[in-house]
Amino acid sequence: MDRTERRGQAGRSWAEGSQAGRSWAEGSQAGGSWAGGSQAGGSWAGRSQGRRKARRRKAGRRLCLGSCVFLLGFVAGGLFVLGVLQRALGNVGGGGTAVVYAQGAGISAGMGETMENGAQAATGSEGRLEEGWNLELVNAAHGMDPDYVPVLAEVERGYQVDIRMEEPLREMLQDARAQGFAVRICSAYRTWEKQESLYEAKVEAYREEGMGEKEARETAARTVAAPGTSEHQLGLAVDLVSEAYQILDEKQEETPEQQWLMAHCQEYGFILRYPSDKTEETGIIYEPWHYRYVGQEAAREIMERGICLEEYLEERAQEE
Ligand SMILES: [Zn+2]
Repeated sequence: MDRTERRGQAGRSWAEGSQAGRSWAEGSQAGGSWAGGSQAGGSWAGRSQGRRKARRRKAGRRLCLGSCVFLLGFVAGGLFVLGVLQRALGNVGGGGTAVVYAQGAGISAGMGETMENGAQAATGSEGRLEEGWNLELVNAAHGMDPDYVPVLAEVERGYQVDIRMEEPLREMLQDARAQGFAVRICSAYRTWEKQESLYEAKVEAYREEGMGEKEARETAARTVAAPGTSEHQLGLAVDLVSEAYQILDEKQEETPEQQWLMAHCQEYGFILRYPSDKTEETGIIYEPWHYRYVGQEAAREIMERGICLEEYLEERAQEE
């Protein structure tokens, strides 16, 4: 899915959210005018005092019921719109799940789900990745907690990252661009669903080439990490390309942008995560575009010594 399409879909889900909100409000207004109708009904009818009183009581009850419907509609509509917005925001960089969600959100089922999601987003990062979060290892052998949701910040063009690496990334992009290097983000935080769809698409492509199920899955995992094993899901990785050459292959390393990034990324706390000579250790092919935030201290050591994150963490574990 290309970026334009992704942005378009995200935009669509917002629009759907607003439409839903509007129709709820319209429903509520109808509730209000219904109550108004009841009041009118009360004034023109009635000949005898008793009947008029009875009608007033009835109208009062209708007015009360109308107000309740109005209030319920208003609150439910508000919650629904909030949930859809939150969901859409969480998926701007991550793919089309917001659309599926917004379309599938019926009045009753949708409400419960959006509220549940809101709660998860608020508490998602508590108690995890607090200490040493920047050195969290995620690879084929170390899967992540499926419930983990980082606190995100948008950097540009809808791309989001863990809020704690937002500043270093901005600085690196600014400095590169100030020196004339046209660096472009082409992937950042991914939801579980997004990672799953990317991985399954890769598996399917290998299946079509005639590979068996097991081989297709293993081969795919070397280029697109299986869900739960990608640093993009942590929000601590970005894929950066040259504006002039946006293809993700080995030629990316020849661009002036990658040359600059590879020479300076550690100054901002980033490492080139999958170097050409470490595919055995990382389990991932050479990716001269995938940068991972680990903090300045670790980044300098890893880049200057030409080791990978797996080796760095292994050494630290032995020292302790
Ligand atoms: Zn990547």
